[in-house]
Amino acid sequence: MRIRVVGAGTMGRGIAQWAVTAGHTVELADARTEAVADAVAFVRTMLERAVVKGRMSRADADRAASALVPLDSPYDAAHDAASGATADGGAPQLVIEAVLEDLEVKAELFTGLERVLPEETVFATNTSSLSVTRIGARLTDPGRLAGLHFFNPVPLMKLVEVVPGAATREDVPELLTALVAESGHRPVTVADTPGFLVNHAGRGLVTEAFALLEESVAGHAAIDRIARDVLGLRMGPFELMDLTGLDVTASVMDTVWEGFRHADRLRPSYLPANRVAAGLYGRKSRRGFYGYGEGEAGPSLPEPRIEGGDPARPVRVTGDELADLAAADAAPHDALVLVPTWGTSVAAAVVENGLPAERTLGVDPLSLGTPRRVLAVTPATRDDAVRDAVAVLARDGHAVSVVRDTAGSVAQRLLASVVNVATGIAERGIAAPADIDVAVTLGLGYPRGPLAWGDAVGAARMLALLRALQAETGDPRHRPTPWLTHRASLGLPLSTPMPRLPE
Ligand code: NAD
Repeated sequence: MRIRVVGAGTMGRGIAQWAVTAGHTVELADARTEAVADAVAFVRTMLERAVVKGRMSRADADRAASALVPLDSPYDAAHDAASGATADGGAPQLVIEAVLEDLEVKAELFTGLERVLPEETVFATNTSSLSVTRIGARLTDPGRLAGLHFFNPVPLMKLVEVVPGAATREDVPELLTALVAESGHRPVTVADTPGFLVNHAGRGLVTEAFALLEESVAGHAAIDRIARDVLGLRMGPFELMDLTGLDVTASVMDTVWEGFRHADRLRPSYLPANRVAAGLYGRKSRRGFYGYGEGEAGPSLPEPRIEGGDPARPVRVTGDELADLAAADAAPHDALVLVPTWGTSVAAAVVENGLPAERTLGVDPLSLGTPRRVLAVTPATRDDAVRDAVAVLARDGHAVSVVRDTAGSVAQRLLASVVNVATGIAERGIAAPADIDVAVTLGLGYPRGPLAWGDAVGAARMLALLRALQAETGDPRHRPTPWLTHRASLGLPLSTPMPRLPE
């Protein structure tokens, strides 16, 4: 296919590299001609590197390099095939736009292209936050435009969101889906909604991480450690925001929340605004949640050692889940009492069961089979009980995190939010359940898709967790979606698609 990529910056050059590697002819244009030259040089270097690393044959790299056609202007009518040295000359069949993220700039570009290119040429926008429908609405023929949302770096990030606008012709997303699939990436069809799929699904983790920080449940480094070790995420939420840039993350959180008319589940924290104003973006400004300056370790800073007490202190547990931690000869009068919390707080367990507050602590059952055990303390817990509980939990070489008591503890709340937000995406028909899981694993790098993750923990347990969180906090943010509630109540997996209605 002959594809014109307009905007030769970070994304445009990545898209160009991907497309020539897949055998397409790519015309590259930019408002700045030097950007085109830079992009061509960049793609050639990347192709060379692929040859050196043995990932591409010399012949394929040469062919791909010669399929790059630099243009003087995005508005070239139909480029002469001779300079492209490829067979499929003439007008491009597809334009992929990756220019500045600004509705006016994009609309002006497409209306200009509409004047010079044949009506069969399909238009695609790589916008990450604008409405595809609103961009299309500026065209004489809005039916020819859809969103084609790539992720950075394009050749490595295999996911592409195909986003039909409200007026997009049916054959346009079909063509884009086929192109992406044939060219080695994974297309998912996503409704034209704020954040599309991946940026919407990603709100679950970061908004809840900020809520935990707001409530002083734990510091950012402790939350990151729990996210990595208990949930198995490659990066903790704060480490991730430092990488993405808090300016970008904060703006996505606001856009998605505002776009969904202040949906409780997506409510952002007040915390990022001042951090952004202070330039604490993360890696790119060398200071975010972690420091990235000379001699600073970033997120890999060593974990402070918690001084443990007596590992032989008698332990009494409530609930079967913690049975392994109990000592057979537990002396009831000064034994530690460990309670499993599931969407509930230690404080509530103390009151409901008449437990000794000064030596009762919570253990997150989600953390039990993982390298890190998480202990929750209340304002009434005595220091010696905390120290002894740390020593008991660390007995078989486990890392231990101590957090302040909250309904649900850290990992549970992060997981509940990730799963619940994903079921909200499914419920709104934004994407099919299977595509949600694929998109989140490829786009966000989570160890499993959020619906599959909820199913692995158990749909009924997830429902119990969210209901308990909602009941104890009274915060509608934790309200389980009808999607989750109904499937869990019916004993069905969360990935069960919507029933078809008769025509
Ligand atoms: P960038 O700043 O690296 O590149 C943008 C390029 O567009 C520049 O070379 C600029 O000269 C050119 N440009 C600006 N106005 C133009 C015009 N009117 N006509 C032609 N060229 C013009 O930006 P980027 O990060 O590559 O982002 C491009 C688009 O992709 C944006 O819509 C962005 O939201 C989206 N996007 C970015 C990412 C990312 O991680 N960077 C991921 C997905 C989508």
